Amino acid sequence: MTRALVLNATFEPLCIVSDRRAVVLVLGETAEMLHASDAVMHSPRFAVAVPSVVRLRRFVRVPYRWNTPLNRRSVFARDDHRCQYCGGPAESIDHVVPRSRGGEHVWENVVAACARCNHTKGNRTPAELGWRLRVVPAAPKGAAWRVLGHRAPDPRWAEWLDFAA
Ligand SMILES: [Zn+2]
Repeated sequence: MTRALVLNATFEPLCIVSDRRAVVLVLGETAEMLHASDAVMHSPRFAVAVPSVVRLRRFVRVPYRWNTPLNRRSVFARDDHRCQYCGGPAESIDHVVPRSRGGEHVWENVVAACARCNHTKGNRTPAELGWRLRVVPAAPKGAAWRVLGHRAPDPRWAEWLDFAA
């Protein structure tokens, strides 16, 4: 199933909807099609191009409650599925300052880690081991994250979402 990116009238990315929903938005003239996918949706009476990007005709005010949920999938996505200590494939999440030592379960203290680093590190801090984090962990920001979360972006959305395709 293809999905479509929905932009506000201001071109701000809002959300991702199913292809069927995107077609309904366009047919109902709630949104205009900015970019068509290769797919065509057939009904008994007509065929319609399935949009990959649509823009609402009217501005919608969105209540901002964009806190990306902190979980294994979202941490892996932020850290590009790489262990933040050795760069190997991530298999678990690690609290930089261990929870047993007062480390909090927050974006700034959680990183993706491989099983080996996680096990070796145990209840110690990176400083105690002489380890350095590859990137200082932080909460993800930006429209792309708000809209996509852990989902992989469709390359056709790159022009409207602020990410490196
Ligand atoms: Zn590792």
